[in-house]
Amino acid sequence: MTTITTAAPEVHAEDAAQPMRLSFSRVDTYQQCPLRFRFAYLDKLPSEPSPHLSWGTSVHRAIEAWWSQKLPAAPPVDVLLQALYDCWDDTGFEGMAREDKIAWYRHAQDVLRRHHERHAPSFVPAVASEEWFALQLGPDIEVVGSIDHVARTDGGGIGIVDWKTSKRAKTRQDVRGSLQLAIYALAAVELWGHEPEWVALDFVVSGVRVAVPREEIDTDAAVATISEVAERVRAEAFTPSPSRLCDWCDFRSLCPAFEGEGPDVAGRAAIELTRLRRKRERDEARINELEQLVRDRLGPEAVLEEGAGR
Ligand code: SF4
Repeated sequence: MTTITTAAPEVHAEDAAQPMRLSFSRVDTYQQCPLRFRFAYLDKLPSEPSPHLSWGTSVHRAIEAWWSQKLPAAPPVDVLLQALYDCWDDTGFEGMAREDKIAWYRHAQDVLRRHHERHAPSFVPAVASEEWFALQLGPDIEVVGSIDHVARTDGGGIGIVDWKTSKRAKTRQDVRGSLQLAIYALAAVELWGHEPEWVALDFVVSGVRVAVPREEIDTDAAVATISEVAERVRAEAFTPSPSRLCDWCDFRSLCPAFEGEGPDVAGRAAIELTRLRRKRERDEARINELEQLVRDRLGPEAVLEEGAGR
C-alpha cells in the first residue's frame, strides 16, 4: 500500500524510528558505491559543479518549459531556445574559456532544435511536468522524486517520460529493468489513480525514445531492491566499491579505496582560482565605480573610509 505525502527528502540512517527517505538517484548511488552514498547523503558533503550537470539541467528546464505551454499547436522553436537562454545554468562553466562555453551552449541549441523537429508535428501539451511525489513503501520507507513529463496517450490514458541528456541511448532491455521507471509507474497510481499505459526514457541528444508497455515493468522487483538498500543503509553498510565510476566521484580525496589523490585535483584548484580571481576583478571594478559615485556626489575630496556604512 502506498500513500502520498509532501515531505522534503532526507535520509535518516541513524534514526530507526523515522521512515527512511530514498529516491531513485540515492538508491542508484548506493548500488554504485555505498561509501559514495554515505559521503553524499549522510555526511552531506558538497558536490563539485560540472559542465555536464549544468548542461543537462539547462536542457531539461528548457524542454520542460516548452512542453508546459498550454497551446493547441506546438510553440515555435524560438520558444524553446528562449527557454534555454532564460534557464541556462552557468554554475558548471565558471572559469571555462568563453569559446568553450559558447560551444556547450550551441550544442544545447542544436539538441533542442532537433527535439523540436521530432516532437512539434505531434505536439500535445504535457499532462504534468516535474510532478513531485512521495511514496510510502510500508511503514519505514519513503521514496521521493519528480516525474519529468506525463503525456496523454491516444487512448486517453497517460504515458510517462524521463528526459535523458546522456550521449548514448539505452537498450530496450535496460529500459525494461529501469528502477527509475518502475518507481514512476508506482507513483502514477498514487498521483492519478491509474497505471500509465507505457513508460519511456527519451534520449534527447541522440533523438531516440525507448518506450515499453507498463506490463513489462517489474515494480515488485523495484520495491525489493529499494527495501534491500534501505536495510543496508540502516545497518550502516558503507563499504567502498571502486569502479570506473570513481573517475566521476567528487569524494576521491576522502576515499580510502581510491588510489592517489585524484587526477584532477590540480585542475579543480586552477578552475577555482580562476573563478575567485575573476570575482575579485569584478568586486574591484564595482568598488571603483562606487568610489567615483561618492566623489561625484560629495566632491573630489570626499573620502569613504573602509568600514564606513557597516
Ligand atoms: S572514489 Fe570510488 S570507491 Fe571511493 S567513494 Fe568514490 S566511487 Fe566509491
